[in-house]
Amino acid sequence: MINKKHIIEARRCKSCGLCVESCPKKALSIGHELNANGYEVVECDADKCVLCNICGIVCPDVAIGVIELKASEKSA
Ligand code: SF4
Ligand code: SF4
Repeated sequence: MINKKHIIEARRCKSCGLCVESCPKKALSIGHELNANGYEVVECDADKCVLCNICGIVCPDVAIGVIELKASEKSA
C-alpha cells in the first residue's frame, strides 16, 4: 500500500486561495497565521482531505500537495 501525506509549506504560500476554491472536499481555508512574507497561510482539515492532490496541481507556488512517503517514513 502506498502511504501518502498532505503537506503545506507555509513559507511558500501567498494566500491566493486557488487551492481553497479547487479542493473538492472543502478541506482548505485561509488561516490567520502569517508566514515570513506576511501572507496568511492556508490550513487543511485532515479529516476532510482525501489526498487527491488537486491542490498540489493548482498551486502556482508549489506550496501545497500530496507526497508519497518512503518506507522508512511510513510511521511518521
Ligand atoms: S489533497 Fe485534495 S482533498 Fe486534500 S486538501 Fe488537497 S485538494 Fe483538498
Ligand atoms: S497553498 Fe498555493 S494555491 Fe493555496 S493559497 Fe497558498 S499559494 Fe495559493
